[in-house]
Amino acid sequence: MAKYTEAKCRMCRREGCKLFLKGDRCFTEKCAYDRRPYAPGQHGRARKKVSEYAVQLREKQKARRAYGVLEKQFHGYFEKAEMQKGVTGTNLLVILERRLDNVVYRLGFANSRNQARQLVRHGIFTLNGRKVNIPSLQVKVGDTIEVPEKNRKIPVVAGAQEVIARRGCPAWLEADGAAFKGTVKAYPQRDDIQFQVKEQLIVELYSK
Ligand code: SF4
Repeated sequence: MAKYTEAKCRMCRREGCKLFLKGDRCFTEKCAYDRRPYAPGQHGRARKKVSEYAVQLREKQKARRAYGVLEKQFHGYFEKAEMQKGVTGTNLLVILERRLDNVVYRLGFANSRNQARQLVRHGIFTLNGRKVNIPSLQVKVGDTIEVPEKNRKIPVVAGAQEVIARRGCPAWLEADGAAFKGTVKAYPQRDDIQFQVKEQLIVELYSK
């Protein structure tokens, strides 16, 4: 299976914002973006004339990298978002947000989306009582994500309650750390997505 091999902190520096790809480290003084908030490479600090296309491209890359989705799948999500009713950009973000790995991350069972994806692939969670191992699965209203008894001792999963207390849980989800359980209460709204992205630029890029 294809995957990113580029250094994660390098991606944040390239996109000019924190993408929170490394869990707890992102909140410490070790964060590479906080220490060097400019693009990587020899000419990272050089002033450049940025074209409209470059701005749109960077916005798309930012969203794609934050959710850890490869280009082909991301484009597929865009096509799906275009076919849905409503605002395409918002639809796209909602699709990304509804991915099972993102939900696991939001529920505090993982420190990053990358870690959440790995845990899902290892079959650590159940969805509506059935074991799942597909990180891209789209959750629906009423779905329940749970950690079976035998997996509750996994350190990162065991600390979910603490993570939720620190990070909070989005309004569209309900986290019950003590019961190792989370429920999808509603579909996410644009305001629920705190990630700083100008989705309209992504739409403009793909609509060329
Ligand atoms: Fe990005 Fe986290 Fe690395 Fe900071 S520590 S640069 S937020 S991945």
